[in-house]
Amino acid sequence: MDKYILSNGIEIPAIGFGTWHIKDKEIITSSISTAINNGYRHIDTASKYGNEEFIGEALIENKFDRTKIFITSKLWNTEKGYENTLRSFDETLKRLKTDYLDLYLIHWAKTSDDWESVNIETWKAFEKLYLDGKIKAIGVSNFTVDALKSLMNNCKIKPMVNQIEFHPGLMQNEVVNYCNKNNILIEAWSPLGSGKMLDNDVLISIAKKYNISTAQLCIKWCLQNGVLPLPKSITAERIIENYNVFDFCITDEDMNTINNMEYFAGSGLDPNVVVKKIKQSTLYNNTCIGYFVYFL
Ligand code: NDP
Repeated sequence: MDKYILSNGIEIPAIGFGTWHIKDKEIITSSISTAINNGYRHIDTASKYGNEEFIGEALIENKFDRTKIFITSKLWNTEKGYENTLRSFDETLKRLKTDYLDLYLIHWAKTSDDWESVNIETWKAFEKLYLDGKIKAIGVSNFTVDALKSLMNNCKIKPMVNQIEFHPGLMQNEVVNYCNKNNILIEAWSPLGSGKMLDNDVLISIAKKYNISTAQLCIKWCLQNGVLPLPKSITAERIIENYNVFDFCITDEDMNTINNMEYFAGSGLDPNVVVKKIKQSTLYNNTCIGYFVYFL
């Protein structure tokens, strides 16, 4: 199965190409080109990644048919709020050189003390953009169960996707079960744990049995759990390898072994922690108060 169907009937290609940390124009162009020429039809970006512009150019330069490529972008923490969201969305479209998005996500849930009301206002803008036909599907990222409930109790259109950190050792069962019950597709960010999964002995030995790489094992494990993986690579052979996962199947026994692994590595980011403007200590003899935002 190379696609999932979202709750609103939209088809979404089952593996997305992750682009976090790919900022160099030449690298993004060649990576996108390799990905699309080798089966990927889904690109995951975000305004925060600073590469939307290059992705838009890569798609045009390669003459890829826009309607055949599923593009996701995300609204950054500082872009929230009704008017701000509408403006930020337009900027994202301009950078990507397109007139619609396939999927737009709120990047993080808890970004200020008043995150509940901020998310509700932001979501109203998402609903407007969706109803205006500018986005085919809308969703969230890094939303915990309480953040989802707060949003869903106050919205007309339910999120169709929740993109969360998901890899062996970090299955986030509570939020995954909640999303499954509410027909919200889970997307796995860092399905390879940003590479940290790949030297795990248990995963290496299971992968050997199938004559596949550990990366392929992690990606297929996501798919067999009904989750959509977003592997990232800038290496042509790896990009190709990561999509080449449709001709083998992990046994129930091996799925259980991986599903029961304890946490051993990950980003360390906790979506429960409120990321907010922090009042920095007073600087320069109390004459200058600085503010900064933790960026993830
Ligand atoms: P992954 O978990 O996909 O791991 C990428 C790393 O693994 C890179 O170092 C890559 O190296 C390496 N790698 C990839 N494939 C292979 C392979 N076959 N063999 C060996 N090494 C391999 O990374 P990310 O953390 O980037 O997560 C994936 C995507 O998820 C992001 O790019 C982004 O789109 C999304 N994301 C979303 C977040 C959110 O908050 N919503 C947060 C984080 C990520 P190399 O590139 O050098 O080949």
